[in-house]
Amino acid sequence: MSLELVGSNLSFFTLSTQTVEEQTHSVSRISACKRINMSGYAFPRMCHLLVNQENPCRRALDKNIFKPEKTCFGNLGRPISCLSGGERDADAVPQSDARVIYCVAPAMSHDMEAHPESNFRVPAITSALEKLELTPKHRGSAIIELLNYKSATVDDIATVHSKSYVSGLEKVMDLASRDGLIFLEGDTYATSTTFQESLIAAGAGISLVDSVVAASKLSNKPPIGFALVRPPGHHAIPKGPMGFCVFGNLAVAARHVQRVHGLKKVFIIDFDVHHGNGTSDAFYDDPDVFFLSTHQDGSYPGTGKIGEIGHGRGEGTTLNLPLPGGSGDTAMRRVFEEIIVPSAQRFKPDIILVSAGYDAHVLDPLASLQFTTSTYHMLASNIKQLATELCKGRCVFFLEGGYNLQSLSYSVADSFQAFLGEPSLGIKFDDPAILYEEPLEKVRQAIQRVKHIHSL
Ligand SMILES: [Zn+2]
Repeated sequence: MSLELVGSNLSFFTLSTQTVEEQTHSVSRISACKRINMSGYAFPRMCHLLVNQENPCRRALDKNIFKPEKTCFGNLGRPISCLSGGERDADAVPQSDARVIYCVAPAMSHDMEAHPESNFRVPAITSALEKLELTPKHRGSAIIELLNYKSATVDDIATVHSKSYVSGLEKVMDLASRDGLIFLEGDTYATSTTFQESLIAAGAGISLVDSVVAASKLSNKPPIGFALVRPPGHHAIPKGPMGFCVFGNLAVAARHVQRVHGLKKVFIIDFDVHHGNGTSDAFYDDPDVFFLSTHQDGSYPGTGKIGEIGHGRGEGTTLNLPLPGGSGDTAMRRVFEEIIVPSAQRFKPDIILVSAGYDAHVLDPLASLQFTTSTYHMLASNIKQLATELCKGRCVFFLEGGYNLQSLSYSVADSFQAFLGEPSLGIKFDDPAILYEEPLEKVRQAIQRVKHIHSL
């Protein structure tokens, strides 16, 4: 297909960004989100974004990391030299006491000023992990960072996306190089490094899956994987980019795990506040991939209705649960117990992959659900337990949305806490005073409808 380029029309975004502090090694930014509109749904809210950026290569100095690389990917979107002292490479198997294995692909040159899907996101998370002592340096072999991952190949991407899209994207990099920034579709921008950095993001996810699967052959408690990557992937459709997403990182990893590891049945949980339409499209008629999405009813991109249940042989292996605005912790606990657990138990997966979006947090500027840090801890803990019960602990999370840098980073950190079997940080970070009553009767009705449609 030919990519639609819409120039630099920024009518969708009216973010105003003010730089308040710039230092040699850190940048702090406060953004006032006057109105963010993804496809017509506006949720006015002020958000204060504060983050410290750091050198992506510093992690190579940490002790318990996978191999010192010859290469890691730096802020110019190309391999750069990194010092290191590790002992392992991406094909190595984590030690049996490892509880978390993560990789970092921050796509530092895929960025647009004042865009919520910015290159501040992944560094915000790694800063929080450092601050909360959730790194290999602080936790020994319980937490491993996978450094030596490979870029995905065009053939990897083509298991999900059309070759014409992939080659078309590569070709428009010249244009992006000339103009600095182009729009691929709607609000989805590209810079001259987007193609390469998107291959890196997808490749990081594939390598992480490889490590978790390898570990599961030696232990019933392999580490949970977390791909801290961007650009995100769950809106990218087979024929093109969409909704800030370029390649379906999780979808590509799902096809990889089937092809390379022979793990046929993949159960996908997408708890991003938006419907994962791209992932859904990729597997809509596939009976071996169960796609379960919870999202805010009526939010971008408008798909993911309860009645969308898959097609042909895949009928019944797509489950959508749109939640009414205001749904929060109580709603999601019920959804997990009444919908997610029985769906997964019935499907009997070989692996669970998670589209982990953190934009359902009450502080997120792009939606109006009321998840808290504790909600994400609960989800991570329960999903880990589900994977232990059903598929030898094989489970990998993929970062999707999450645009308030503070709630994003603390919620990812709390997910790590859950993987470690440690208590939630919610008491420290959540403010019950900002929460309001959840629409639990509407939630109950939605759960009942899904149960009825899917015979749960
Ligand atoms: Zn989202």
